[in-house]
Amino acid sequence: MTAFPMSSPGATPRVLVVDGDADNRELYRDCFTLSGWTVTEAVDGREALVQALITKPWVVVMELRLPLIDGVSLCEILRKDKVTATVPILVVTSETRPSQLARAERAGANAVLIKPSTPDVVIAETERLVRSVTMHTQSTPFHELPSPASRRTALVKAHHRHATTMPDVPAINLMCPICTQPLRYQETFVGGVNSRHSERWDYYDCARCGRFQYRYRTRKLRQV
Ligand SMILES: [Zn+2]
Repeated sequence: MTAFPMSSPGATPRVLVVDGDADNRELYRDCFTLSGWTVTEAVDGREALVQALITKPWVVVMELRLPLIDGVSLCEILRKDKVTATVPILVVTSETRPSQLARAERAGANAVLIKPSTPDVVIAETERLVRSVTMHTQSTPFHELPSPASRRTALVKAHHRHATTMPDVPAINLMCPICTQPLRYQETFVGGVNSRHSERWDYYDCARCGRFQYRYRTRKLRQV
């Protein structure tokens, strides 16, 4: 099932996801695929450039902290190349220094989200950027994006994805891996590709060390 009505095979909406973290790429891949996107992945800035030039994406979703070519440089290079000069860039990053975020915007990023951002927020912002580009250029097939209402319906049919603070199975008690204080549970995100491959991430805070994510499938706790 696709959430996108296609008028031609060449009009498949394609997102290039650039993030060095395999878990993040998997999360984006699952959620964008579910929303009807074709996903290309890159683990670093150099691979991202190669991928962007092989098949021009409709939009780039990228971390700023990247090996080989950092995110700010990647933005600059994408903006300078004729092929990718107008492709919207959404930065989703664990970088929080205002000076670095401002540099990214000056280098060509259209919007910046700070991690952790739930996949729903990332997808909504991605589609907002693609729509805003459509309104200003006529040469791109971006009018193929569905209306928000039809996409919502498609998502509900495909799989129930949601954020909640009261999950069916209560969040487990966890300790901060850095300072060993008890972590405070914040919220749960339920997602995944379908009901048989569902995913659950619980978000926690430590007063000293910041935010953590616990992924049920891998039982892995990580700082985000
Ligand atoms: Zn701590």
